[in-house]
Amino acid sequence: MFPDFDFCSKEFSKYGLELTEDAHKKLGIYCDFLIEYNNLVNLTAITDPVDILYKHFIDSILMCNYADLSGNETLIDVGTGAGFPSVPLKIYLPEIKITLLDSLNKRIEFLKKLCEKLEIEAEFIHGRAEDFSKTSEYREKFDISCARAVANLSTLSELCIPFVKVGGRFISMKGPSEDITSANNAVEILGGNVSRETKYVLENKERRIIEIKKISQTPTKYPRNSAQIKKKPL
Ligand code: SAM
Repeated sequence: MFPDFDFCSKEFSKYGLELTEDAHKKLGIYCDFLIEYNNLVNLTAITDPVDILYKHFIDSILMCNYADLSGNETLIDVGTGAGFPSVPLKIYLPEIKITLLDSLNKRIEFLKKLCEKLEIEAEFIHGRAEDFSKTSEYREKFDISCARAVANLSTLSELCIPFVKVGGRFISMKGPSEDITSANNAVEILGGNVSRETKYVLENKERRIIEIKKISQTPTKYPRNSAQIKKKPL
């Protein structure tokens, strides 16, 4: 069972987060539906409700603290999977406008049903990031693109930076191990600039948020197709 309001709000407040009753109710519905649907479609390896609270919900929502979200941004979540980090963020910051993109249609179908249950608005895209960021509808249209646990930072930069307007940001959520300086070349080619790396601890584990500011347009030849990205990382 998902932990009660008192427990959750105490845990949220440890991270400077304030939980409303409405957000708590929605997180409970999300947790139950995630566990139920996970029996049909592989969505997550984390299935204990308390673990879901920390490792999926609080971890996702912490982006708003460490990356200073105002709550009014347009945000595309690249490789969102079961909705992380953008769906918990939308529950916590109801004004944010989220676009959920994933190449696996089964996950997008789950997200459509989930958002209907939660009565939250979202746009859904089934497809590959490198295809959609080439289209005039999505290229350089978002205040923020973000990703958690999708690829290394160099590859992710090619998938995520083309979606961002000049002046916007690409926000990557990472663990402690990756050497992010190896992505500097990719970031620069794609029109970005690593502006901040924030480290924090969640459940005794180091986490990092890397913010990349978009300072110029992405050259039209990027992103390349997935085979080229894989074969010759920038
Ligand atoms: N972001 C979620 C999280 O933190 O739990 C999901 C992470 S899961 C390990 C990676 C997801 O990225 C998968 O759902 C996969 O289908 C998606 N993905 C990988 N490459 C992609 C691409 N090029 N375009 C769109 N989705 C992609």
